[in-house]
Amino acid sequence: MGQGLSSCTANDENGVFFSAIQFGDIDTVQSMLEKDPSLLNQSTVYDRHSPLHVAAANGQIDIVSLFLDRSVNPDVLNRHKQTPLMLAAMHGKFSCVQKLIQAGANILMFDSLHRRTCLHYAAYYGHSDCLQAILSAAHSSDVAVSWGYARFVNIRDGRGATPLHLAARQKRPHCVHILLDNGALVCASTGTYGTPGSTPLHLAARGGSMDCIRELLAWGADRLHRDSSGRIPYMVALKHRHGACATLLNPSSAEPLVWPSPLKFISELNQEAKELLERALMEANKEREKSILKGTAFSTQSPSHSNVDLDDNISEASDTELCCICFEQLCTIEVQDCGHQMCEHCTLALCCHNKPNPTTACLTAPVCPFCRCNIGQLVVAKIKTTDDIDLQDQRDLASSSLLRKSRRTRNFSEGSSSFKGLSGVGSISKLGGGGRGSGRVAAENEWIDKP
Ligand SMILES: [Zn+2]
Ligand SMILES: [Zn+2]
Repeated sequence: MGQGLSSCTANDENGVFFSAIQFGDIDTVQSMLEKDPSLLNQSTVYDRHSPLHVAAANGQIDIVSLFLDRSVNPDVLNRHKQTPLMLAAMHGKFSCVQKLIQAGANILMFDSLHRRTCLHYAAYYGHSDCLQAILSAAHSSDVAVSWGYARFVNIRDGRGATPLHLAARQKRPHCVHILLDNGALVCASTGTYGTPGSTPLHLAARGGSMDCIRELLAWGADRLHRDSSGRIPYMVALKHRHGACATLLNPSSAEPLVWPSPLKFISELNQEAKELLERALMEANKEREKSILKGTAFSTQSPSHSNVDLDDNISEASDTELCCICFEQLCTIEVQDCGHQMCEHCTLALCCHNKPNPTTACLTAPVCPFCRCNIGQLVVAKIKTTDDIDLQDQRDLASSSLLRKSRRTRNFSEGSSSFKGLSGVGSISKLGGGGRGSGRVAAENEWIDKP
């Protein structure tokens, strides 16, 4: 936070007061207020920030609390009709965002610059904790009743941009993820009344963030949507020289696996199971990317199998812990109510689809592959093996190349046998390079016969 907020105050007293707020000198703030309570009604000269604006923007939570306790209006406006909540969200001052929301700050206010809300600000500046706090507030507030939660998540600014557009443009993959998870429309267009506009995928292509593009594609973003200039996201990425992004966005590149969000049990997944499956999906798509980016043949590529330790680990596991579809991975997901278990990769194979191929799309909810009963819920399997315990650590250490290699290997070994037993998911089998023995296997028709 710069000095700018308090640099142009009307007089010395104001200057001292706003400086004290900015730097968190609560004693000075308090003693000045004792002498002159009207200071609370002052504002900075140019931007007309109130004391609460300055405190919130600088993350001075004690001073924010002090002001709110003195019944300062939490929705006081500055020159640009920005609220203290917008400034706190802009600067990522999470505790101030929380405090202001608790104090009843209105999350549905629009500034006069671009008609943006606090949700736009949090998304634009990439403060996912603030974003989440605002979304949680929207869930439980009048906004959900009067406006509808989904409408709030997809709220447009003066140029038609939703928070998802802004997060994608500003390369904020975590915010993109949270927004999609909360019902943001992946194919929302900035065009109004049916006129062509940009989708979040166009803006991600403009920004050049591979992670944002991955998230959007995994949620079913359309690579063929044209913006107001008639360009598809691929052309936008090319124009701005984001070569790798362009490769992913090229409509002739293989489609990624798409998260089957419409399925009822997926939307009701518990957090743990969901994270596991989402991670498996991202891994599968990254494998696909690797092939695309290398320019090698997609379906026949075999991974290198250098990680012997991992195979040893798996072979130590007892039969009951092994997934009975692929016989390679450990069971991590349990189907309820029947209690059958399988690995997350086989679960994905059951639930996900490759978008462009309508014959493989799961139009109805899948059933348990073992007993054909309806899947009421998917939960994380209770059996704790060393491998399960390591999952969280592995994710935290994703930058370690050794681990990454080992997980890729596991991920790749998903394909072969898991898809054979399942109907309606044929084309995904391309994702699997083969089983554990696929290092020996070169051609697609060979691994089909492997156990
Ligand atoms: Zn499996
Ligand atoms: Zn079952």
